[in-house]
Amino acid sequence: MNRLKPAIALFLFSCLAHAADPKTTMQQPAVADALRFAQSNAEANIKTQIHLCEIAAPEFHEEKRAAAVEELFKAAHLQNIHTDAAGNLIGDRPGKNPRPHIVIAAHLDTVFPEGTDVHVTRTGNVLKGPGIYDDCRGLAALVGVAQALDAGKVQTTGTITFVADTGEEGLGDLRGMKEFFRGKTKLDIDAFISIDGPESITDAVTGGVGSYRLRLTYSGPGGHSFNAFGIANPIHALGRAIAKIDEIQTPETPRTTFNVGRIGGGTSVNTISSSAFAEIDMRSEESGLLETTKATVERAAQSALDEENARWHDRGKLTMKIDLLGYRPTGSTPSDSKLIDTVRGVNQAMGLPALTTSRQSTDSNFPMSLGIPSVTLGAGGTGKDAHTVNETIDITEAWKGVQRLVLVASTLAD
Ligand SMILES: [Zn+2]
Repeated sequence: MNRLKPAIALFLFSCLAHAADPKTTMQQPAVADALRFAQSNAEANIKTQIHLCEIAAPEFHEEKRAAAVEELFKAAHLQNIHTDAAGNLIGDRPGKNPRPHIVIAAHLDTVFPEGTDVHVTRTGNVLKGPGIYDDCRGLAALVGVAQALDAGKVQTTGTITFVADTGEEGLGDLRGMKEFFRGKTKLDIDAFISIDGPESITDAVTGGVGSYRLRLTYSGPGGHSFNAFGIANPIHALGRAIAKIDEIQTPETPRTTFNVGRIGGGTSVNTISSSAFAEIDMRSEESGLLETTKATVERAAQSALDEENARWHDRGKLTMKIDLLGYRPTGSTPSDSKLIDTVRGVNQAMGLPALTTSRQSTDSNFPMSLGIPSVTLGAGGTGKDAHTVNETIDITEAWKGVQRLVLVASTLAD
């Protein structure tokens, strides 16, 4: 193992501490050119957003959309473009030095299954289509930042790595981030920016909401609905469990939530099913509450099982299995850290409203849990109804999101 001498480690660790002031950075002629480009290129950037979004990217099948992003990375002259073991598309924009090393990412995947109609429609400034806001807007902004820095010929001190990553949504379980940051610490990366999440470009996600995802399965012998009547029924047990889960009380603050997101099972209307399952998502801003909520859901599942088995006098007993589908750690970046301070300064320099902060579950959760300064920023425009087929985005002044990200990245890497 390579051990850094303390003096070198201290130098690397403090790279970001010397980050420039956004007001000074934005006056550099090259950065000013890049900012102008972000605005003049606005319509082309929206076309990129639509183009990428019309290439389906369901969980675990992001490769076609990644290939389209790869062409755009090449055209923006990123270097060392490659795909890693998790399917993340990675490209570098080397600076004069390797440090500070800034990583900027947007996720490729969507929540929509294979076969979903991903056609995008446009009515004036409103685009509608699955994933058009979450996170096609982020991908377009990611590409937009690379294009703007290239157009302005911005020469940064440090390196900016661009990542179109996989596995952010659903059962992806942050697999892209887990692979990208494998073996890395805050000694390797000075700041991470995820382009995703907030509906407004005046917000910054500085806290990662942790989550558990479970699959609850009840199994039994099953049988004919008439002839075998009297054996315990997995679907009935599942109904009991869901009703109990629905009764769980969680606090507003720290915000803690639960959701049965998917159910399945059964053979036919006249069959007592041999199995039934539910997929359950639990989230909390606080790790202790996340654990408590998970334990409460598990108790509800157990008591539904016991009730169903007791009701049918142990004829054809059911069994229960709970699989862990996903776990995202909680984490946060202090509001007075250099990274958040820089974002705050960028909002001021651009004349945007003062920065607000929030907590969400995003790609930043993972680097935050490693202590790497991380933030999730919006990509411009106003999104609505994410994760539904009625998802829309109003792209009025969406270019401001690209400008803001250009200034954040060039200030941090200055
Ligand atoms: Zn997203």
